[in-house]
Amino acid sequence: MNVTELFACNVFNDDVMKNSLPKEVYNSLRKTIDEGAPLDTSIAGAVANAMKDWAITRGATHYTHWFQPLTNLTAEKHDSFIEPSGDKVIMQLTGKSLIVGEPDASSFPSGGTRATAYARGYTAWDPTSPAFVKEGTLYIPTVFVSYTGETLDKKAPLLKSMTALDLQAKRLLKLFGIDCRKVATTVGPEQEYFLIDEDVYLKRKDLILTGRTLFGARSARGQELEDHYFGSLKTRISEYMRDLDETLWSYGIFAKSKHNEVAPAQHELAPVFTTTNVAVDSNQLMMELMKKVAKKHHLVCLLHEKPFEGVNGSGKHNNWSVSTDTGLNLLDPGEAPEENPRFMLILACVIAAVDNYQGVLRACIASAGNDHRLGADEAPPAILSVYLGDQLGALVDSIVKGRQYVPKRPVPGSIGVPSSPIFPIDTTDRNRTSPFAFTGNKFEFRMLGSQASVADPNIVLNTIVAEEFGRAVEALAGAKDLKRACRSYTETLLKEHYRIIFNYNGYGPDWEAEAERRGLLNNKTTADAVPELFKRENIDVFVRQGVYTEKEVLARANIQLENYAKTIAIEARTMLEMGRQDIYPAVNAYLGELCSVIAAKRAIGKNLPTDADMVLAEKLSSLNEAFFRAMETLEQGLASLPEGAAAAERAAHQIVPDMEAMRRLSDEMETLTSSRYWPYPTYSELLYSVK
Ligand code: ADP
Ligand code: MG
Repeated sequence: MNVTELFACNVFNDDVMKNSLPKEVYNSLRKTIDEGAPLDTSIAGAVANAMKDWAITRGATHYTHWFQPLTNLTAEKHDSFIEPSGDKVIMQLTGKSLIVGEPDASSFPSGGTRATAYARGYTAWDPTSPAFVKEGTLYIPTVFVSYTGETLDKKAPLLKSMTALDLQAKRLLKLFGIDCRKVATTVGPEQEYFLIDEDVYLKRKDLILTGRTLFGARSARGQELEDHYFGSLKTRISEYMRDLDETLWSYGIFAKSKHNEVAPAQHELAPVFTTTNVAVDSNQLMMELMKKVAKKHHLVCLLHEKPFEGVNGSGKHNNWSVSTDTGLNLLDPGEAPEENPRFMLILACVIAAVDNYQGVLRACIASAGNDHRLGADEAPPAILSVYLGDQLGALVDSIVKGRQYVPKRPVPGSIGVPSSPIFPIDTTDRNRTSPFAFTGNKFEFRMLGSQASVADPNIVLNTIVAEEFGRAVEALAGAKDLKRACRSYTETLLKEHYRIIFNYNGYGPDWEAEAERRGLLNNKTTADAVPELFKRENIDVFVRQGVYTEKEVLARANIQLENYAKTIAIEARTMLEMGRQDIYPAVNAYLGELCSVIAAKRAIGKNLPTDADMVLAEKLSSLNEAFFRAMETLEQGLASLPEGAAAAERAAHQIVPDMEAMRRLSDEMETLTSSRYWPYPTYSELLYSVK
């Protein structure tokens, strides 16, 4: 296999465009892609035709507008290229079909922005993300809006947030005499996932219906030996990874590193970073392909945030940076950040954004699945804070406390083995416990859930940082002595927002209390986190930056709450079904056997001891009774759950604890019941299913 030839062979990328489009058309399209110039619709016909011709050479017969409704998935509706021509057909893609589509919008979540009677929605081509051919269809990335112009997807606001950041960053850079055509954010999302054997998976209703195990006593062997992380790959896994890499490469996705993660059966895949909008599309496509390729290998790829209790769950690290088209990374501190007022100002703006909008950042990554991870010693807590590392941490401390700063420079290091090379040791160590960590020349937002779209957190990051850039420009524009004004503005920001900086162990028990003293938010569940979006100042930032209208913010918050409540309700109903139909009867059947044994032993009349059998029978009997009651409680709770977003609060604070109680009882019974009777594969079978 020739990787360079394979790479992006399914993508209508710059190379293909350059070769297949007339020069003026290509240049005009490039201007739109690179600089955000409005699309010249008169070139659409030529582009559509070239795209179609190329797609046919890749085996396509259909095309689809590919969009990202307010679920975490993508949506598509395929149309063939055929047009009748006499008795025959011709293959056609018109400029209009490339630019707009009209899928019925009524069955997608809209949070009330669109009355069902007005079903019309439009998809509009997003030329900034390349089209590709998959399984015989040309996929055209699009945005999705309603008839009345409200956005119904994650792509439109993402593009708007990128525009907002571009605008404000350019204004800010201008103050420093830097002119550039475009400032864009870049994102590299590291993706965690589990792989289990398909046969075992198919025996678990909970995994099939909810993506996670709702019952299951812990395996005798968890992750305590710390032997899985970076461990050597099992053959079946490495074959899967190889197949996946090749598939991803063919779609132009820069799959770069892969390794075993901390939990048994857990792995990670990280692509090379790229422009945010392309990174978001790639991550959506990547998640889909991860599942598809797994099927080919008789495996199932679990993207849920917490498939198994007792071992680590999966997240996604959003590596985020801001760069100009001239290649300047605004988050690069350089050798001497203390002498770089521009960098320090930008850093202070990001810190201020995280502090001012901590509620929004927490809300944008909130979901039923992610609630299990945050603060559970495997992911950052639900509290936002910023980690700066030794060098910047010391610099910021010195500014805030008015102390002398002693610069720390990279020192040549050696690992102490004579033959090993001397290399510069980084000035910052890594901190794995921080939700928002500075890592050299980017920030790593680590609270994201593994199955969620990365669009939402990036919409928020771009918007709130654009806002802080805007405020900085307003404060500094017209300053007589810019250097001084900048230093003093930076100092003020850092002092005001010092509370959000935390350079220590975010998993430690003291941090929660300390964060509370600092007045930081700690919204533990989605039901508590999302209502932050109803606050005036949080709505306003989106409206001011032109990313959402007020109606859109409220609609999205409501969808998120509703979705959360629905997810919990599905999980609860699945538990009830499993409990009533499988677990309760299985324990009873085993109890029946135990009782027969006791009766048989006694019937012999030879004083065979039955004490142990009695203890076990009594214990299981009372546990199963309690289990039955717990099911009734859960059922009643479900029956009285209100409709819509209003259900979130009750789902979080009543249904979830009731589910917990039911699970505890079942898990204990599992440890006491003969494996011949237990109706589901155990955690050991699930986590060690791939040999
Ligand atoms: P770690 O696992 O230690 O966090 P990795 O090297 O596995 O580090 O992942 C780092 C991620 O950060 C990669 O996806 C990489 O592409 C991404 N990244 C590197 N530089 C940038 C940047 N300037 N902007 C956005 N992402 C970046
Ligand atoms: Mg990381």
